Amino acid sequence: MKIVDYKTVVVGNPWKNWLFVKLYTDEGLTGLGEATGGLATKPHQADVEELARFFIGEDPRHPDKVWYKMYKGRFLQPSRGMSGVELACWDILGKSLGVPVWQLLGGKHRDLLRVYANGWYTGPREPEFFAESAAQMVKRGYTALKFDPFGGAYRQIDLENERTAINIVRSVREAVGPDVDILIEGHDRFSVSYAIRIGRMLEEFNPMFFETPVNSLDLAATIEVSKAIKVPVALGERFERLGQFAALLTHRTIDIIQPEVIHLGLSNIKKVCGMAEAFEALVASHQAQSPLCTAINAHLHAAIPNFLIHENFDDSLESWTWDVFKGVPRVDKGYLPVPDTPGFGVELDEKEALRHPYGPDKFLRLFEEGWETRRPSKN
Ligand SMILES: [Mg+2]
Repeated sequence: MKIVDYKTVVVGNPWKNWLFVKLYTDEGLTGLGEATGGLATKPHQADVEELARFFIGEDPRHPDKVWYKMYKGRFLQPSRGMSGVELACWDILGKSLGVPVWQLLGGKHRDLLRVYANGWYTGPREPEFFAESAAQMVKRGYTALKFDPFGGAYRQIDLENERTAINIVRSVREAVGPDVDILIEGHDRFSVSYAIRIGRMLEEFNPMFFETPVNSLDLAATIEVSKAIKVPVALGERFERLGQFAALLTHRTIDIIQPEVIHLGLSNIKKVCGMAEAFEALVASHQAQSPLCTAINAHLHAAIPNFLIHENFDDSLESWTWDVFKGVPRVDKGYLPVPDTPGFGVELDEKEALRHPYGPDKFLRLFEEGWETRRPSKN
């Protein structure tokens, strides 16, 4: 079997343009992968175009080999485009054998994945609004909720905003009760001293973790914060290389990692999960992309012993999303069922996708005031 053609498709979700890679084979099978960029889309689309010289003509049933050909061809520089292609290869491999991808990863440990909801607080940065929204999510069956209460703060936070942030966390804790997990997202924003100050304030609310309190590519700063607070620190969504996870885990200070499949590809993220297992660490993959990635992460999370919790935005997306994506598992009472369909099991309705094109304003500008409303940004 050979890859004979490809296509990229952008779907304009209001707060993030989603980018897909579709591969075509000489045997008629197609595969779907994702290469969504956080705050850029066109560079990654062009990336796939330039990578075509490496993957056209390759047998897609060897995803790791196809990825390494691109990686070596780019002088050992990974990219989102490479992951998009590699993921589409995995989809074709599963379809060619008639089995779900989790089967190819060694079988599954579980049929249901515990989910934490994200994206549920799209409104004013006020404690009452967060409390009401959180209570609604719990009513829907969620047992864990993540949120960023820090608004536009960057590096430091003034006293008024700090008070608002802590009041938001307190009001959510009071609204959901003591048995629902709350997860606090820092978005890499604080300096070490502010992160420690905030982290200590969070202790009384017993969060499952404080995510990326400081620039998560600064390992020394992350370790320092983690040692100074009693709340577990979690990170990993920015890491593109196996060695970054090795360097983090050897400190034995952080034992919750959040690898991102669009940075790593599926072969490498599975290797990262194995590395974490060696350090008794848990995996809660980063999943802030399209519903295709919901399915991709469901296959991964089903197949690893050290799964912690599954991130999910899907209940807070536009209703048209479900006309575009077919075959995505949906959260039911706080748990996501593991799909059984061959490959990843997701197909894109391209006709529907055309109704939601790329938009230059469809990005979430995190440190702008009011970003949490997730309304289209000004630029
Ligand atoms: Mg994050």
